[in-house]
Amino acid sequence: AAELTTVEAGKLTMATNAAFPPYEMTTDAGAFEGIDIDTAQAIADKLGLELQIDDMDFDAALLSVQQGKADIAMAGVTVTDERKNVMDFSDSYATGIQSIIVPEGSDIASPDDLAGKMIGTQRGTTGYIYCSDDFGDNAVVAYDDGLTAVQALNNGQVDAVVIDNAPAKEFVAANPGLVLLDTSYAEEDYAIGMAKGNTALEDAVNAALEELKADGTLQSIVDKYITA
Ligand code: GLN
Repeated sequence: AAELTTVEAGKLTMATNAAFPPYEMTTDAGAFEGIDIDTAQAIADKLGLELQIDDMDFDAALLSVQQGKADIAMAGVTVTDERKNVMDFSDSYATGIQSIIVPEGSDIASPDDLAGKMIGTQRGTTGYIYCSDDFGDNAVVAYDDGLTAVQALNNGQVDAVVIDNAPAKEFVAANPGLVLLDTSYAEEDYAIGMAKGNTALEDAVNAALEELKADGTLQSIVDKYITA
């Protein structure tokens, strides 16, 4: 393969927020794991690069590729038109659904019921953006990550949390007093974020992704972390 110029020679530097199970999380031993981690590793292997993982807040991960500090942002990143103005995206590799978590017995049963409530979200995410657009900035609290938002919901500081479906399922499973509404707030595509105009990297990443989709590697990674 042609030599790729990356942030650190010989490495593929990935900015992520490892508090977003099952896409990225940290094991008790402190290792990174998850769908994005394994997928990035498989891409790095194909590109002949060593995977370097930089863990940070979600909004910082998006900035990191824009500022040329990381080669890729992989953090269940949703493709949006606003983000496309400041960064480029690979082909999509997964879909996400913005979902609503409420305490058991809540009177919130649908997205419309969020009107007039306090909504917890993760800073810089599509959940935050949609909710503040629909219900106003004052109705939305932005936390550092999803887990902190869920803790705030457990403590009664907010009435609901809007977050991606896959981590929502895990947070609800770990918190018996919470339930996940089976109505979705928005559907979206996940893709790998890169600096604008880095076509060499984008082409290489898309070629690797296509191979991983075609040979079933991507599906087996998903199956490893999500049991139907
Ligand atoms: N998919 C959402 C977004 O891109 C949230 C991602 C995340 O919190 N890691 O905004």
